[in-house]
Amino acid sequence: MIPVGDVPESTLQIIADNITGRFKLTTQILPPLEQPEYAFDERRLQYNAGIIIEAMEAMQFGNHDKVIGVLNNDLFIPIFTHVFGEARQGGKCGLVSLFRLMKNSDGSTPPKSLVLERVAKVALHELGHLLDLLHCEHKKCLMHFSGGVDEVDNMSLELCEYCTIYLQDKLG
Ligand SMILES: [Zn+2]
Ligand SMILES: [Zn+2]
Repeated sequence: MIPVGDVPESTLQIIADNITGRFKLTTQILPPLEQPEYAFDERRLQYNAGIIIEAMEAMQFGNHDKVIGVLNNDLFIPIFTHVFGEARQGGKCGLVSLFRLMKNSDGSTPPKSLVLERVAKVALHELGHLLDLLHCEHKKCLMHFSGGVDEVDNMSLELCEYCTIYLQDKLG
């Protein structure tokens, strides 16, 4: 896990705890990367997730197999108005953005505990993609696609039975 810009240590720790607890993988919080100004899109006033991931894929992260970047910037990929996170299936690096998770769909502010739960879900979801998982039809499954925060809130922090078996197979 790597903060990109200024991300609270407590947020990173919660994600790390969820990855360790649920995917049974060891995690480490790496020293932060600088703000990804190179990925800023002046027309959309957002950051291009694909460009940040490409830059991260070109970096050296010691012996870490998978790297999840956590940032505050509003992310997009060309086909969507925004994304909560992004990762390529089977890739090395993924991203999670706090930006859209800090507001409810009606514009109100959720309690901090809910924001942290959302961040953990999106981080595990993106890590799932890095570990080769695809989107899942089960609405409660962690690998269900979420276009809005309500969908994030509806899904659980757990993989469905099918995705669990697939992941166990992948991790050997
Ligand atoms: Zn996804
Ligand atoms: Zn599933």
